[in-house]
Amino acid sequence: MRLTVIGTGYVGLVHAACMAEIGHTVIGIDLDTDRIEGLTRGRVPFYEPGLRELLHRGQESGRLRFTTSLAAAARSAQTHFVCVGTPQRLDSHAADLRFVDAVVDDLAPHLRGWCLIVGKSTVPVGTAARLGARLTRIAPEAEIAWNPEFLREGFAVQDTLRPERLVAGVLSPRADAVLREVYAPMLRAHVPFVSTDLPTAELVKLAANSFLATKISFINAMAELCDATGADVVTLADAIGRDARIGHRYLQPGLGFGGSCLPKDIRALMARAEELGLGESVGFLRQVDEINTRQRRRVVVLAEQLAGGSLSGLNVAVLGAAFKPGSDDVRDSPALAVAEEIHRQGARVRVHDPEAVDNARAALPWLQFTLDVPKSCEDADVVLHLTAWPAYREIDPAELASVVRRPAILDARHTLDAARWRSAGWTVRAFGRPKLGRDPGEGFR
Ligand code: NAD
Repeated sequence: MRLTVIGTGYVGLVHAACMAEIGHTVIGIDLDTDRIEGLTRGRVPFYEPGLRELLHRGQESGRLRFTTSLAAAARSAQTHFVCVGTPQRLDSHAADLRFVDAVVDDLAPHLRGWCLIVGKSTVPVGTAARLGARLTRIAPEAEIAWNPEFLREGFAVQDTLRPERLVAGVLSPRADAVLREVYAPMLRAHVPFVSTDLPTAELVKLAANSFLATKISFINAMAELCDATGADVVTLADAIGRDARIGHRYLQPGLGFGGSCLPKDIRALMARAEELGLGESVGFLRQVDEINTRQRRRVVVLAEQLAGGSLSGLNVAVLGAAFKPGSDDVRDSPALAVAEEIHRQGARVRVHDPEAVDNARAALPWLQFTLDVPKSCEDADVVLHLTAWPAYREIDPAELASVVRRPAILDARHTLDAARWRSAGWTVRAFGRPKLGRDPGEGFR
């Protein structure tokens, strides 16, 4: 099939490359001329495991091309995927829909005959119907569908080629058939295909992200109780996660969620519910958001405790800048938010990340960055482990102890082997594990 993919960010670029990989002929379109120029030359604009190989293969096969010209591309295909951003509005919790609106307005005049505009962007319920009405005023035969994206950054290629489910909000059997044809290899591999209406498809995505966010904040709330009572949240999470109805995934206590999706998606759901007069129904999401934001402040407080007082004038090493491991994305990164706050308090902050240093430096040029773990920790008074890159688990704590000024580490992701670090002479602290510290049973807020 011939497809266009409009917006070549994390979702659109991966979708375009994967669609070419499964045999479609794809044109990726973006307004960003630098990005399209780079892609045309084979330059991958962000880190995502496996994406480089797929892009090169698609481009070499001739099935994957890039352009900034929506007009030229629009006429070359009948199926157009919309993958532009839907960030939080600056003036409220609601989603900013001007990019999806602009795509429909720009695309519609170029459409001839029946074609399918498939939204993949995450949008508040009701958006697809509104866009459909807008579309058919200009292109009466065109049809809208919504096919929300569930990929996880860091696993985006794998999640797109082998999704856990596909959800298609459609208005007609024809649209349903087109989407089944697009995803035919996945359907042959028995990926569940949930065919539904537009509002259900839109809501599935925000409901899924709200549930995941709730799970994370739930365990972080339990960590606060553990801190106050001497209980251990890691043991607690393991024990409750063994209940198959609960499960271990997304039950990792720590610094909480960030990135370009979960925070803005739960806020967008709250904002839409309020518009519908149903704010109370999802009122718990406000607390989910607050618990999550509080984790960032708690790291700073705990870092002060580890340092024995004010952080001003101290050297603080930060391990991790990406919002999660496996990605170079620093949008709403909890790690960078903490690094910035500690810098504001007068500490000298040196940040390490294996992939996100360039993006982090562009966001916070006043911090110091390095690609070398020991360098980030040279003369450090406190080390903060803020992004759970697997490589950090391989650090030799005895070796690192020889470069720091004081061997004190806050494991805000609960992935380090605390016993190993302690036996190498480190003071280790972590949320919800009060017995780890030098003052067993001591709570903190
Ligand atoms: P992004 O910001 O990385 O990419 C968006 C791209 O769209 C940018 O390159 C931008 O230049 C381009 N763009 C904007 N307006 C355009 C226009 N009129 N024509 C052509 N290109 C245009 O965003 P993203 O992270 O890929 O997210 C896209 C959508 O997918 C969002 O709604 C997001 O919530 C959702 N989503 C994201 C993820 C994720 O992990 N990043 C996962 C699932 C869903």
